[in-house]
Amino acid sequence: MLKLDFHPAGRHFLQIPGPSPVPDRILRAMSYPTIDHRGPEFGALGLSVMDGIKKVFKTTQPVVIYPASGTGAWEAALTNTLSPGDAVLMYETGHFATLWKKMAESLGLKPEFLGLPGVEGWRRGVQADMIEARLRADTGHAIKAVCVVHNETSTGVTSDIAAVRRAIDAAGHPALFMVDTISGLACADYRHDEWGVDVTVSGSQKGLMLPPGISFNALSQKALEASREAKLPRAFWSWAEIVEMNKEGYWPYTPNTNLLYGLSEALEMILGEGLDNVFARHRRLAAACRAAVTAWGLEIQCVDPAVYSPVLTGVVMQEGVDADAVRKLIYERFDLSLGTGLGKVKGRMFRIGHLGDCNDLALMAALAGCEMGLRLAGVTLRASGVGAAMDYLAQHESAPRLKAVA
Ligand SMILES: *Cc1c(COP(=O)(O)O)cnc(C)c1O
Repeated sequence: MLKLDFHPAGRHFLQIPGPSPVPDRILRAMSYPTIDHRGPEFGALGLSVMDGIKKVFKTTQPVVIYPASGTGAWEAALTNTLSPGDAVLMYETGHFATLWKKMAESLGLKPEFLGLPGVEGWRRGVQADMIEARLRADTGHAIKAVCVVHNETSTGVTSDIAAVRRAIDAAGHPALFMVDTISGLACADYRHDEWGVDVTVSGSQKGLMLPPGISFNALSQKALEASREAKLPRAFWSWAEIVEMNKEGYWPYTPNTNLLYGLSEALEMILGEGLDNVFARHRRLAAACRAAVTAWGLEIQCVDPAVYSPVLTGVVMQEGVDADAVRKLIYERFDLSLGTGLGKVKGRMFRIGHLGDCNDLALMAALAGCEMGLRLAGVTLRASGVGAAMDYLAQHESAPRLKAVA
């Protein structure tokens, strides 16, 4: 453990858009003794978490759980379904879409990166009409997959996945549809089956409130069929044996037992609250955060209100202000971690996470830290964002917090 020469009083404020704070209840569940991964209790645990996670993906089809970060599940999605040299159509929403595309190149695929020019595409969602036009032009069906990011964590934009499905259908194109909702799952509505997604990729350390270390591929029959013909090398990531052994609640290798205890607890919390309540809670905190940014007189990275992210808000700095210097000051003075600007927007903006185990006063603390830090950094603020966010929260009641007690 990293040793400081003093104990900082109070809790650190982890307001980055993942890893998000892990509730004590989940940490406690993860501290249960590790059990025999071939024993009967394990099979029951495996079946129960797979049943629960399917409800969160809104699917009845197999969901593969890997002991890996989200990046591993990206690789699994591509290597299980595609062959060397295959053309894939990917859409540039931001840094994470760019990383997924780089991975496709490294694996020997031929990604084509569609998007709006410059940073314009980093301020809006996926333009489904551009995907439709490109697929219509691909009369020979060379494109084998369409890959998009649902919640682009580098910008705070949540794209319309159903619209991309409609675009693929309108073009009458047979490409597989793959979606990264690593940071969107359990924050924003997601419908794997209804939206006809073939592979959905997700991870543990964002909306699911777990530590980093497990990730997911939700599958479709079409994806499973493609995996039988796909020629990219794969061994650890291969679905076939995992899906087979998962039927009894087991894995072909040693799964991440203690993280699965955590997942079981997280599912109980999320499904107990109800997915719609979870989504509404995220939307409400996001709206309060945006009210603060707007009151400060600063720009929100996402310029299309239809696709504002309920997970995080990107705050654009005025010209000449180094966003990372502001972040550093806030971290050092107030023990508050904010997300850095990534890729094309590095130094231009920072990100406030309001996902997972976040409530009104946690958000208010984060906004107070931002406001104090911005002032100390010499940023001219138009009005108090803290005041605006308090007004928003006071005027918009949340779901009754104590309903289970009543
Ligand atoms: C966090 C994240 C990733 C990367 O996941 P790791 O767990 O860091 O490997 C990929 N895509 C999106 C949208 C993310 O938010």
